[in-house]
Amino acid sequence: MCADTHVLDIDVERRVKLMSAASGVRVVESGAAVLAMGARERTRGAIRIAGSRPAGVLTAGLAQKLVNQMGLLPGRRVVILGSGDIGLIMARRLTLEGVEVVGVFEIQPHVTGLNRNVVQCLHDFAIPLHLSTTVVRISGRDRVEGVTVAPVDTELRPLFAESWDIACDTLMLSVGLIPENELSRQLGLALDPLTGGPVVSSAMATSQRGVFACGNVVHIHDLVDFVTQEALLAGRSAARHAGGSQPTADNIRVIPGANVASCVPHTLASDREHTLYLRVRRPFEKCLIRLGSVLERKLRYAVPSETVTVKVGPRVLHSFHGEALTIDVVPREDADPVDAADVHERHVS
Ligand SMILES: Cc1cc2nc3c(=O)[nH]c(=O)nc-3n(C[C@H](O)[C@H](O)[C@H](O)COP(=O)(O)OP(=O)(O)OC[C@H]3O[C@@H](n4cnc5c(N)ncnc54)[C@H](O)[C@@H]3O)c2cc1C
Repeated sequence: MCADTHVLDIDVERRVKLMSAASGVRVVESGAAVLAMGARERTRGAIRIAGSRPAGVLTAGLAQKLVNQMGLLPGRRVVILGSGDIGLIMARRLTLEGVEVVGVFEIQPHVTGLNRNVVQCLHDFAIPLHLSTTVVRISGRDRVEGVTVAPVDTELRPLFAESWDIACDTLMLSVGLIPENELSRQLGLALDPLTGGPVVSSAMATSQRGVFACGNVVHIHDLVDFVTQEALLAGRSAARHAGGSQPTADNIRVIPGANVASCVPHTLASDREHTLYLRVRRPFEKCLIRLGSVLERKLRYAVPSETVTVKVGPRVLHSFHGEALTIDVVPREDADPVDAADVHERHVS
């Protein structure tokens, strides 16, 4: 492993240009490459909040680093914009450190973090959660002195007439992650506009021969356990490629259909078992996942913040003779209890 080393470029022959203080710039040849550049946090610039540019506006990840690693408090009275998991966890952490967390403000009508974090980090500490509400202005010259928040309509447009001011010295942002795909773009990989990451096969192969991808660079994960599973798959596939063997080509495309925000991988091979990772567009109390006409799964609930995993085996895929399967999530009205296998596949944690 080369720590403190930046990958500047990878070309289609998988020559990797590296830069480090210790070794300068050098190029290494590779038999296969795995892209695992992760994601970066969305910042104030990415969400365009009006107002001045004082100190005291920071991302939740930076707050985590300041508190957990450096023993520093980012402020004394904090407003949190966005209900991502790191923001929720930091709401609790800052409260335990004696910081006043005024509230969490989320523009969507639902939280974007895990339910367990809402319960354990907000409800247990009586931290207010305001859904369908956003920060529309930051005030203060040298340091944040306050923010203006406003409810939003169904099109997420702020209702300025109903806005109110909150005095605070810190605005913490937990408004999502952006897959880090500069190298993927340089390589000319096919990207999926729904995930922001490379289109990948069931072996985590990208559109460029010998280049594989895994983790947040492919799609944003809520739990690191799923990253590990993908990483093992991508690593094994890359090792096989470097050793000269090719997996059977995928023969089925997966198309995100009704209420599916994204689905990975993008293709399947009918002779293997696969795990599909999908996100729903809106919360459901009871729903049905339908993969074409080959598979149906009942879920007790599904929310946009939690990845739903669906295992698809060769037994069902063998019965399909087309080129593409659409995956849909639809509400269900029946009162059937969900069987143990379905709950297990959901990976509720
Ligand atoms: C602030 C934060 C807190 C989190 N907390 C939790 C948690 O408590 N529990 C949990 O389950 N999940 C958590 N997650 C989610 C989890 O960390 C991610 O899902 C997981 O780390 C993603 O793994 P990855 O390998 O895809 O990316 P990362 O872990 O982000 O690793 C990517 C690595 O690639 C490096 N890199 C990027 N570009 C280049 C380049 N050009 N050259 C060289 N190196 C490069 C980066 O420096 C980084 O080290 C958190 C995520 C964030 C952002």
